[in-house]
Amino acid sequence: MEYPALALHVAGQWRPRASGGERPVFNPADESPLGALPLAGLDELNAAAAAAERGFQIWRRKPAHERCTIVRSAAGLLRQRAQEIAQVLTLEQGKPLAEALREVTLSADIIDFQAEEAKRLYGRMVPPRGAGILWQSVIRQPVGPVAAFTPWNFPANLPARKLGSALAAGCSVVIKPAEETPATCMLIVRAFLDAGVTPEALNMVCGDPAQVASTLIAHDAIRKASLTGSVAVGKRLGQLCAERVKRFTGELGGHAPVIVCADADLPFALKSSLAAKYRNAGQVCASPVRFYVHRSLYTQWAAQFSQGAQALRLGPGLDARTQMGPLIHERRVEEMERFVDDAVGRGARLLCGGKRVERPGFFFEPTVIAEAPVDSMVQRIEPFGPIAVVEPFDALDDAITRANALPYGLGAFAFTRDLLTAHRLGEEIEAGMVGINHFGVSQPELPFGGWKESGIGQEMGIEGLLHYTEIKTIIVGVPA
Ligand code: NAD
Repeated sequence: MEYPALALHVAGQWRPRASGGERPVFNPADESPLGALPLAGLDELNAAAAAAERGFQIWRRKPAHERCTIVRSAAGLLRQRAQEIAQVLTLEQGKPLAEALREVTLSADIIDFQAEEAKRLYGRMVPPRGAGILWQSVIRQPVGPVAAFTPWNFPANLPARKLGSALAAGCSVVIKPAEETPATCMLIVRAFLDAGVTPEALNMVCGDPAQVASTLIAHDAIRKASLTGSVAVGKRLGQLCAERVKRFTGELGGHAPVIVCADADLPFALKSSLAAKYRNAGQVCASPVRFYVHRSLYTQWAAQFSQGAQALRLGPGLDARTQMGPLIHERRVEEMERFVDDAVGRGARLLCGGKRVERPGFFFEPTVIAEAPVDSMVQRIEPFGPIAVVEPFDALDDAITRANALPYGLGAFAFTRDLLTAHRLGEEIEAGMVGINHFGVSQPELPFGGWKESGIGQEMGIEGLLHYTEIKTIIVGVPA
């Protein structure tokens, strides 16, 4: 599979070169260079924002049904091109090809759902309270040109969430994917353009992330920023938006707890937890991290979970036998080493893994740490990698308190066969998504978003679309 020649899309044109120079993109499975990414300087950034304003004035005027048809055709093109896009995704991001393929087809489903919902962005008529008013209505209109920022861990799904919703709602976009994984986003942008999106309404830039963000958010044309990324960058972009009272959606980091109750179906809980923990090498915002296991199951859980983790086959994502690919870059491998050293240094037990794998590429062993003290790094900071921590609990109250103890609140999970316990966990866990006996909390028709420092706003579901709209009240009076 050829890695495509990289280009930015600015003001209706593909640009293989840009004023900010270029940087290499690497294959994380073997560290080989894949291509050279042009970087936008101030010229291209300002040109992209200005084009987004012009494109918005055209795109917003298309009838909702026409926009829906175009956006849905982009989803159709993604399905047709799924094999090719998935290969590129695996080359630059590292995940197993089967995961990449599922990501691309799920991206198409998300885009479809948002496009369909855009047909139903209803307003309402409100009866007037006094004479002299003929009617009062409340309508929703597109918020305007949006600056969108996405990370490298889901290079198809995260751009698809933002582009599908923004374009369906009638907004234009300047998207900045992660510089590590630009080609997947480029192929998604190409699908939208091939489907008939107004070229100036869809711009893609890469560059120095801080400069791109500050330039775009300060630009008068941009009305909203939407970031998927870390809590630290979310706070920074939130500040930049607040200074100009611009709309902001932040889908930020997580540190998901899993409560395994005494009545859990143990083989099922183990199997699904292993699959969820090591999917995408743990580089998933809702990846389970903290396993609180009822003491009656704890010894068995710790042994079998670490056996399962050790048995995973590591390798390049394009090898069909691979179950877990590499991390995205060397910095993440070093970060994993710090998490392990810190926990072990504070008295935790390393049940398996804990080391980089000595081969080309950024591989780190699936790792399980038992009884890490609450002040250790891994208990406080999102590891965003293949590390799980396990510890026992006796009373459910205590497990819930520990689950809620961090400033994160994205995904949270539990295993129980008791309906009342399931209901209680659903009510009491502080998180945007709670999965009981199920890790699949990211579905096109359901809102996905974080509580506390894990974010502001949601993506997907009807809620995801509404975040790309403004509310307008219109009163029409009768001249006396
Ligand atoms: P990151 O915050 O470093 O990067 C995210 C985006 O912000 C990228 O486009 C990046 O280039 C840009 N960026 C980086 N530094 C910047 C700066 N100083 N100013 C402006 N923009 C900047 O995150 P990452 O390490 O690429 O991705 C991992 C994070 O994303 C994790 O915390 C993960 O939990 C989170 N995430 C959240 C969700 C969700 O839906 N809540 C989904 C996936 C990933």
